[in-house]
Amino acid sequence: MMEPTDENKVDDVVWQMTSDIIKEDDSEWKKRRAVPLVDLKDSNGPGSKTSYFTMYDEGHTRILASLVPDEIIYNIGDYSKRDFDGCLLFGDVSGKVEATSANFLLPSLPGFTDLCEKYNKSGKGGPSRLTQVLNNYIGAMVQEILSHGGDVLKFSGDAFIALWKVTDQLSMRDAVHEAIDCSLVIQKTYGTYQTDVDVVVRVKLAVASGHLVFSLVGNEESSHYLMTGDPIYAIKAAEHKASAGEIVITARVSRHISANEYLINVLPDGLHAKVLGVGPNWRNMQRQYEDKEYSQGQLGKDLDGQTSLLSDTSIISNMDDGTGGPMEDEISPITTDQYALRPAVNLAARLRLKEELRRFIIAPVVRGIDASEPLEYLTEIRQVAILFVNCKVSALVGPMEGIDVADNVYVTVCNAVKDRYGCVNKISNFDKDLMLLIIFGLRGFKHELESQIALKCATECFEKIKSLKEIDEVAAAVTSGRCYCGAFGHTLRREYTVIGLVVNKAARLMVAYPNKVTCDRETFLYSKLEARNFILQEYKPLKGIVQPGPIYEFKEVERTHDLGFSISPFPLLGREQELNLYNTLLKRACTLSQQENKKICNMLIVRGDFRQGKTRLLEEILYSSDPQIPIHTFTLTAADREVSFRTVQLMFLQFIGVPGKTSRSSRERKIKVRLQNRDIDDDLFVLNKVYDVRFPVTKKFDTEEQKLELLYKMFTILSKVCFSMFWIVAIDDADYIDDESWMLLQVLLDLKLIFVLATMGTQRELTTYALQVLKNEKIKIIEMKPIDKWFHVGLVCQMLGIEGVPPELEKTVQIRSNGNPGWIESFLVTLMQSGGLTVREIKRIHAYNIGVVMPPLYMLMRLSKEETELWMDIMEECTYSKKDEEASKRWKIFVDSCRESYPDLTVAKTFQQLKKDSMIMVCFLNAEFKLEDVVPEQHMDVVILQTFDSLTSYEQLLLKCSAVLGDVFPRDMLLYIMSSTATRLTALAVKKLFEIQVLSCARGNFLEGGLNFKDRLVDPNDDLTVKCDCIGLIIEDSCIDLPKYASCGYLRFRSSEFRETTYNLLTDNQKREFHGKAIRYLEKETRRCRACGSGYFSRYMGGGRLDDGLRNKQKSSTSGRKYSIISQESMDTHTDKSSILGQFSFSTTAKKDTMPKNSMALRETVLSGHRSSSTESGGDNFSVSAGTFLFPSGLGLTTINKLKDNYNLTRTFSTFDYSLCTCPLILSTMYSQLIEHCKGAGLVEKIMDATIEYSYVCMENKNAPQAIKVLDEALELLEGPMKDQIELEWMVSLKRGKLFTLLGRARMYLKDDEAYNFFMDALRHYGIHFPTSNIGRSLLKNRFKLNQTMRLYLFPPVFSKSIDEDLAEYCNNVSECLYLLCKFFSSKGRWDEAELAAIWSLSKAVETESDFEVICLGYASMIFIAAVTVQHNLCVALEVFALRTCHRKKTIVESEELKAVAILYNNIATARFLRAELDKAMQMSYPVWRIANAARSPEILLGAFPFLAYGTLLRKQIVEYGNILTEMLYLVDQDVDNSEKIWYHALCLMLHLETGFIVESVEKCNQFIQTEGFEKTVRDPTGKTRLIVCKWLWEIRNENWEAATMWQESAWDFNIVDKGEDMSNLISGLYLLEGLIIYMVNKMDMKNLKASNRADALITSLFHKLDAASNYCALLKPRMWHLRAYYVMAKHNDYKTAFKHLKKAQKVAEKQHNDLEIEWIDHSELAWNNKITTDVLYSWQEHCEEENYIQFNELDSIENLVLYSLPLPIYI
Ligand SMILES: [Zn+2]
Ligand SMILES: [Zn+2]
Repeated sequence: MMEPTDENKVDDVVWQMTSDIIKEDDSEWKKRRAVPLVDLKDSNGPGSKTSYFTMYDEGHTRILASLVPDEIIYNIGDYSKRDFDGCLLFGDVSGKVEATSANFLLPSLPGFTDLCEKYNKSGKGGPSRLTQVLNNYIGAMVQEILSHGGDVLKFSGDAFIALWKVTDQLSMRDAVHEAIDCSLVIQKTYGTYQTDVDVVVRVKLAVASGHLVFSLVGNEESSHYLMTGDPIYAIKAAEHKASAGEIVITARVSRHISANEYLINVLPDGLHAKVLGVGPNWRNMQRQYEDKEYSQGQLGKDLDGQTSLLSDTSIISNMDDGTGGPMEDEISPITTDQYALRPAVNLAARLRLKEELRRFIIAPVVRGIDASEPLEYLTEIRQVAILFVNCKVSALVGPMEGIDVADNVYVTVCNAVKDRYGCVNKISNFDKDLMLLIIFGLRGFKHELESQIALKCATECFEKIKSLKEIDEVAAAVTSGRCYCGAFGHTLRREYTVIGLVVNKAARLMVAYPNKVTCDRETFLYSKLEARNFILQEYKPLKGIVQPGPIYEFKEVERTHDLGFSISPFPLLGREQELNLYNTLLKRACTLSQQENKKICNMLIVRGDFRQGKTRLLEEILYSSDPQIPIHTFTLTAADREVSFRTVQLMFLQFIGVPGKTSRSSRERKIKVRLQNRDIDDDLFVLNKVYDVRFPVTKKFDTEEQKLELLYKMFTILSKVCFSMFWIVAIDDADYIDDESWMLLQVLLDLKLIFVLATMGTQRELTTYALQVLKNEKIKIIEMKPIDKWFHVGLVCQMLGIEGVPPELEKTVQIRSNGNPGWIESFLVTLMQSGGLTVREIKRIHAYNIGVVMPPLYMLMRLSKEETELWMDIMEECTYSKKDEEASKRWKIFVDSCRESYPDLTVAKTFQQLKKDSMIMVCFLNAEFKLEDVVPEQHMDVVILQTFDSLTSYEQLLLKCSAVLGDVFPRDMLLYIMSSTATRLTALAVKKLFEIQVLSCARGNFLEGGLNFKDRLVDPNDDLTVKCDCIGLIIEDSCIDLPKYASCGYLRFRSSEFRETTYNLLTDNQKREFHGKAIRYLEKETRRCRACGSGYFSRYMGGGRLDDGLRNKQKSSTSGRKYSIISQESMDTHTDKSSILGQFSFSTTAKKDTMPKNSMALRETVLSGHRSSSTESGGDNFSVSAGTFLFPSGLGLTTINKLKDNYNLTRTFSTFDYSLCTCPLILSTMYSQLIEHCKGAGLVEKIMDATIEYSYVCMENKNAPQAIKVLDEALELLEGPMKDQIELEWMVSLKRGKLFTLLGRARMYLKDDEAYNFFMDALRHYGIHFPTSNIGRSLLKNRFKLNQTMRLYLFPPVFSKSIDEDLAEYCNNVSECLYLLCKFFSSKGRWDEAELAAIWSLSKAVETESDFEVICLGYASMIFIAAVTVQHNLCVALEVFALRTCHRKKTIVESEELKAVAILYNNIATARFLRAELDKAMQMSYPVWRIANAARSPEILLGAFPFLAYGTLLRKQIVEYGNILTEMLYLVDQDVDNSEKIWYHALCLMLHLETGFIVESVEKCNQFIQTEGFEKTVRDPTGKTRLIVCKWLWEIRNENWEAATMWQESAWDFNIVDKGEDMSNLISGLYLLEGLIIYMVNKMDMKNLKASNRADALITSLFHKLDAASNYCALLKPRMWHLRAYYVMAKHNDYKTAFKHLKKAQKVAEKQHNDLEIEWIDHSELAWNNKITTDVLYSWQEHCEEENYIQFNELDSIENLVLYSLPLPIYI
């Protein structure tokens, strides 16, 4: 890129290049083209340094030139008729064209419409995508024509016509050859073009030759071109003969072909012929100027490549704040070559035709080019109004004169639409038809009332053209709607075109309804003109338009001065405010008019939008005015403003009369009569002008002031005489008051003789003087607001004369009308006319029952104030509530309560009619009519578009990109999407957008990184000050002089509407591109949270869950498919970061200072003793011990035996801590955005991947409903659009499997048993049959078991094997599903099925060993099942292998993986508890505690805590127990669920029961139980059970029988299932058992046999169950035997057996190191033998007194446990 520092130097360069071009093709173009008439020898000849023709101009010229045919460029100033011979080639893409006159001009044709619909239906991006397809297609053909030397005269969306002109260098024969050769190439190469919706685009071609006349039309302002001649007609006929894929030539063309040059097939008509191919005599027309190689390359690119908005604008990144320009590279030597294909473009640049070319191109395009915008910027989807004019030239006019007529018509139309927001886009002639296309509302030409303007322009054109004598017939049609607008075609030859059904519709209307101005429903509605200006037309089918809706003739009705003073029988709705204001002002003006000093306000102007109901309000006001005051009303029209004093004349109408209606002499007489006897006759002449009278002039004034003074004086006198009493003067449309009248009106107002009421629109511009006058304090202006929604139903009923409307209609009106009653009226009219609405009579009660909305009575009839109040009273309605949804409720009340007890009031009569059975008129919507078809009014859009259009192209680009990102977006992301590095340019754009209130600051916090979530909910419009509140913003040096907000880092749209409107401007292609960039940004730039070191995520979207670290040390994966969207580099960065993090979390001292209270710091101290003994003391033991555990040699069994008791086998993962991590939040935001962008970009497969990841994040954030929502959406996607994209059915199946798995998971989380069906469905989709029969299950189970045994005992795990990633993903997904299924079965106690699922899950997980999480979970479930099903050996083996696997994980452990580890460890711990391996279990429990905390999983923590606590209790580690409970308190605060709280109190109570020590006082526990213990449903019900049982036992032990009764029922109520009961519940069972025996003993003492027997039965059953449970839960055994001894003692008084049992208990307890039990057994033995003192016997009870509490940490030694003595029956 060159540095244009020196002006002269630049010129030199430019010149050099230009001269090169000339040198290069100077002779070239002469050979082929006619000599241009423009003088080449301009004075600023080559080499002149005074040239001001800059490189910008040159680039601009080239672009301008690309928009016109060669024929214009070569003879640009020649407006004469040029006749020459030539050959034409006509191409039509759609293939089904009839020879109607409108065809060629139409940018789109029937075939095109078919395609449109296909694209619409298939959801492939609609017409805009189609446009792109056609653009590429036609672009490629244009290229072919250019390379054959043809001149593309014009083309549109789907058709083109090209010319080969006969010149000295090109004979007719050559021309015909070129055309046919070109046609053959086109048919061969692009004859059929497969689009992406199973649509084959085909082209048919026709060639004709002969004499042609070409002429420019128009003037220096705007010009166009026309062509006429026989070949034009001939080619249409020929084209009509052709089918898609064919070439048809005319007879004349055939004459220029020699025999056997082409293979020709003459058609039956004998005139036309089909060209099938080249014949043996074909001669090669190859020329030296053809650069075949180049054109081929270009061709390929144009067909495949998408015209990208950014690829053309990527120069922006190199643009340095205006010093360079986008045109720079267009003149670089390399790119200049691209013009070689069309030398005319270079010629235009060389001849500096910039100014001359402008008039051929419509203004919005020229403006864009002037602003150096790439033409692609103009491509957008825009709301426009289309005007088509068609006229038939008289048959008397010859073809040559026809061109003059066309010229005349063209200029007429141009003048009509000029300055009225219209652009004449095309003119075309065929035979006697002349057609023009005018577009309203293009860029920079946006007007809110463009539909109205278009209608008025249409009328004007219609009238003017009709008056031309050469014209026989005129038709004009206006339509409104959204169109694809843009430059279409090839870089070297393109045309600005609008494409859309709206355009087709206008063209069809114009043909179908001749001799009038017609329009469609949308135009009628948008125009905001009254319905009386529109006449409904009979229905005519319009080709290609499925539902044209009602069609109207537009005929503007003239307004007169007389205000047709009609008063509506209906009450005026929603205008109380205006009425009240008027009454107040009038009253004051009336009473104070005589008082000199009082200030009054005696003119009220009601300002309102079109059809806002101004006149209706005026009428209502006058109707309600005091009948004593005389009223004079009149309406002004546009013409009135042109006449001086017109308004004043009209005001004095009844006193003097107005010119035109009364004679001058009558007026003179009347004035004289009024002013007689005042001796002022000499001065009357000053009134001459005012009343158009001619009193003799008697004086001359020196100054104007004197004259004015006299005028005021005379006017005052006259006014006082005329308005001798107080008048009301009402003026409708006061915007048309002339300035002179304003002047006198002020005088009149000062006199306080009248009150003026006026209406005024908001659209018309007032004169400066009028605006000045309006500041007068005597004038009050009130703006009319939209009618409140509450009244809409009333309005509708009034307008239709009915009493009820369907709710859908009410809703539509409310949403779409913007409260404009005129719109509602027009809307209803169109609805009625198009048959969408019918009125029927039905019973009131029936109407009520079917939900018809019926407005209250006071909306339908004029009731007095009292009546209204009464009515509302009956309806229990005190205020006009604005809540529309309440309306129906109130109505019900009304119907029910309507009484007939008000005989005195007129309203009562009406009430009589309101009986349920009375008939009322109600309207209904016809079933097939869709209200959604009515496009809403887009008021805001216009304002927004006007703002948008006023921006520079860079600002527009910035906004377009922003719109893609959402309401709030980071600047960094915006810049990425814009691909812009122009920091200052961006800052300036942002500054401007802040200042015009489009953007504002979203308060980013760049110290913390990113958005401050708290501030997110702030309404951006609360504070309109332009500022930036970002924290930690780094401002670029280049922007240091700009305000801070120019550099704002986190932006937001002030209005979502602005964003939406901007977004809607984007074509689908642009959307795809920007969304695509947004996706790349999110994938590349999303960083982890600060706690995680702000690095990149290593887990990424799209099946990247394979774990390299676990799998294979050799990099076998690099050769395979790369899942990663993150480069290896970034992975490395992350690893570095994590190691830093690792060091950080190991420095215990550092932690204490930096981490919050609830961090691991405390836990570290609590556990420090254990950690040093049981686990490593510092660092992850992986590095130390990896070698020890990863030895590859040794057989399974040896390994197990070697390792099973090795404490160091447990890897602690202490380097990983996610306790402060907020990554899930970041990911949640990221994925939800990603999904939106994928939708926008249409990347269906990516949506799927993102959704899957997002659902994981949702579950991580405990938002199961959200997960279900997005998964359901994804499922829908899979059934719909995605099906077409994924061709392989099995892949769809796998995706479904995954979605079902995740849906099941979310449902299981919500405790919905439906989950089961989802898992089963998932497995089915995975192609797996999970047997439901017992036999099938056991067979399968055995097979897996065998495999497992082999794997575990005989073969060591396979360390490195190369695997197929698809297979790995499949296995992992299946394993995941089976794991969840196993979890489901376990929770239901269906152990048999659970076991199979677990085995299967694990076997799938280890099949490829590629996902650490899946493997952990697989082992976890299997270990759990093995423990519960008492397969101890298997369990131990599994533990060893699982723990070994943990050591093999080498890459970073993500939080989900860590969670899986926690689950695994927890299950191992549980298994060990079940085996009663107390120490080993606790050794496992501590890491669980730490890891679960690090993985932010309170559920797992909660699961682990009670057992860990219980373990310490059994080992009599009372202090430790207390510490654990204290630690638990932190959890209590963190969780919303009450589970922790309940467990905490249960454990507190347990400690007291077992040892007499307390952590929390018993009172506090009681308090908790009473207040909140049982209110909530909790996640974990086992804690609740424990708490109740302990509480009951505590009361029993204290012999508080009454209190105990309270808990008895709930305590006895829990049932222990036969197999696999939760260990917590089993332990609770022990407490229950103890309580029951004590209870029984007591009842026995009381001789309550019934109660004791009942207790006995329960005890027996409980013993039975616990006995069974102790098979797999050995931990129960000591207490079981102890209690059995007690039972035998109590029940049977059998000392011998009792002590035998006690011995047994002791033995088991000792074996299990159950120190607590040992001590209690000793105590019981002594107690039962009466060997202890009474003190000791009752010491536990004593310690239940508050004063005797011992805190757990007061314990000096463990000798002094306060134990309870189990009481024996008295009879012992
Ligand atoms: Zn900011
Ligand atoms: Zn994090």
